[in-house]
Amino acid sequence: MTTPSVRSQCPYCGVGCGLELLAPAQPGQAVKRDPEGNPIWTARGDRQHPSSLGQVCIKGATVGETLSRGRLQQPLYRASLDQDFQPVSWDTALQTITDQIRTTLQSKGPDAIAMYGSGQFHTEDYYLAQKLLKGALGTNNFDANSRLCMSSAVAGYTRSLGSDGPPCCYEDIDHCSVAVLIGTNTAECHPVLFQRLLKRKKRNPNSLTIVVIDPRQTNTAKAADIHLAVAPGTDLALLHGMAHLVLRENGQDVSFIDQHTENYKPFFDVVTRWTPRKVARFCGIPEKRLRDVAELFHRRQRVLSLWSMGVNQRREGTAVVQGLINLHLLSGQIGKEGAGPFSLTGQPNAMGGREAGGLAHLLPGYRLVTNAEHRSQVEQAWNVPAGRISPMPGLAAWQQVEAMERGELELWWVAATNPLVSMPDLERVKAAMQRCPLVVVSEAYADSETSHYAHLLLPASQWSEKAGAMTNSERRVTYCPAYRPRHGDSRPDWEVFADIGRRLGFVDQFSYHSSAEVYAEFTRLTTGRLCDMSGLSHDLLAQEGPQQWPFPQGSAPTQTAKRLYTDHHFATATGRARFSNDKPLGLAEPPCNTFPLVLTVGRYLGQWHTMTRTGKVKRLQTMHPEPVLEIHPDDARAYQVEDKQLAAISSRRGHITAKVQVSPRIRRGTVFLPMHWGFTQDKACEANVLMHDQACPVSKQPELKACAVVVAPAVSVVKPVEQEMGRLKALRNLLTPALH
Ligand code: SF4
Repeated sequence: MTTPSVRSQCPYCGVGCGLELLAPAQPGQAVKRDPEGNPIWTARGDRQHPSSLGQVCIKGATVGETLSRGRLQQPLYRASLDQDFQPVSWDTALQTITDQIRTTLQSKGPDAIAMYGSGQFHTEDYYLAQKLLKGALGTNNFDANSRLCMSSAVAGYTRSLGSDGPPCCYEDIDHCSVAVLIGTNTAECHPVLFQRLLKRKKRNPNSLTIVVIDPRQTNTAKAADIHLAVAPGTDLALLHGMAHLVLRENGQDVSFIDQHTENYKPFFDVVTRWTPRKVARFCGIPEKRLRDVAELFHRRQRVLSLWSMGVNQRREGTAVVQGLINLHLLSGQIGKEGAGPFSLTGQPNAMGGREAGGLAHLLPGYRLVTNAEHRSQVEQAWNVPAGRISPMPGLAAWQQVEAMERGELELWWVAATNPLVSMPDLERVKAAMQRCPLVVVSEAYADSETSHYAHLLLPASQWSEKAGAMTNSERRVTYCPAYRPRHGDSRPDWEVFADIGRRLGFVDQFSYHSSAEVYAEFTRLTTGRLCDMSGLSHDLLAQEGPQQWPFPQGSAPTQTAKRLYTDHHFATATGRARFSNDKPLGLAEPPCNTFPLVLTVGRYLGQWHTMTRTGKVKRLQTMHPEPVLEIHPDDARAYQVEDKQLAAISSRRGHITAKVQVSPRIRRGTVFLPMHWGFTQDKACEANVLMHDQACPVSKQPELKACAVVVAPAVSVVKPVEQEMGRLKALRNLLTPALH
């Protein structure tokens, strides 16, 4: 007899594969243990999970090895950052936070408090964080690392279609005739979906054309029929150029445009100016390639567009998302099998966060803080006084850093994320954190970079130790059970938020016996909304398996619609989808004489975000032993750096070093670094030290995908760079004297 297995969703990327977890003690087998002696649960693909059909990548397959090592055991506190941490009880830790909240509410008001959460949260954690900050305290200063990941997709969907919510499903990969992958290295970042696409192509090569739009010849691009290696920051012009050609060839779907869209004329006026010749020159691609791709749209084949951070992490991220949706509206490629604009989310529950209102402008159920009716509905559900929820959007991720810089925040609470690797302009974030009187970090692991700048560390129970729900990129919700005991003295985040709520006097509002109760309250609040999941519960998900929303009360499991907008009635006030008409801006920080190269950052297949988990797995470390700077041979010659030698990479904000990999895979003028390695890692390479803070004005998502740099042999730093750095430092001293 084998020990029963449990089923859950992989806690890494937004594909949200199903995992089957096998207990460490299997009959006839020795118990597997990690280097610290902790027993290891084995993970394998869950064949019953409809999103992944038994497939799993190496990160998911090794997650069992990461769960116990290097964990934070108990709450730790220090009054100032130059002191050592001392153990404290949970009661002392939570009272410290409660006292700080009370004092701050009296002295500065609720907006001097902010929380920065994570797509690693379960939906229950997300939901109670909203209730605590937005409902109990009266500040909308909750934002999540999803802001850095896909908030441009949220804004683009909302502006074009009337609501957030990806309209497609993974089955569309099996039915499309054209797959356009733009700004996404799916092979490494969403590997199981990419394998599904490859299998489809292998089965019937002539039935599918794969187009990849990316400045690098990534592993994704290697599988493409057409690879457009566009210059960084030029994709909106490219999309306008494609729309121009669709119109020129009369490939538009006139009846769809007439019946189901609005704002066509301004869109038409903009794209007519982006002629093929102008676009080809602007993007640095042959005009013929542009025509080839545009033809795929105007032939009215079933086109599925997939994108992720290469599109979203841009100062015109929302405009690019909308530019892509424009093409689908123009050709009527939406709301049907095998077609549509499909955002691939980065994190396992970024989607659940959006549903629970986990960004500074949102409320649960895809509601907005700026909408009086929405606020009133949520206030009533939360049983807080009318007017308690602020009508002003709270501070988005980078705005929270700026508020700390100005000395405006008295409490910054970071949970389940590691901003001292993932934020832009990292030295500035470190300096800002030093100005905040109380930085709380809720973390599963003992040694994240952010913990080094915290006053109070709270040990968090993580996935596998707490029960909750997560939603993946295709709107499928999976119940994730607690199948291992909580580590050390750790507690789930939702329990901690509820405890603080009760300590602040909101006893009725925060008295829960289980996360199932929290989830039931949340799903009730989605009734009648686009993301209606009022028919879902922990019990139903555990018994019937993962379900896609919408799933209103009374829905039959697995019978709900796979796609949104199949009737072509959109979520806007008029029911019509809206064309956008933004003019391309390009990069916020284009290359110049001093910083002549564009640095773009990305991910490796075997690493996840800031390596707090994957950095503990030997197999993954062997796959990617160190970060390398990819540079074109011509650029390597021009900047006198050699393969396998160390190079200094400098931007207006700082310097880092990395080993060079000379490769023709990357465009001339562009260099690439992975973003995973923070300052606690052996091979530290803080790529985001170099990045600027410019963000999309609509989505507030920083342009983490590109900045201007110069590269030199590591022994010498180019003189003009030193001069430029000195000038900028002097300027910053003038602007923010209190920092220095
Ligand atoms: S593709 Fe993503 S969700 Fe699936 S196993 Fe790999 S990391 Fe996990």
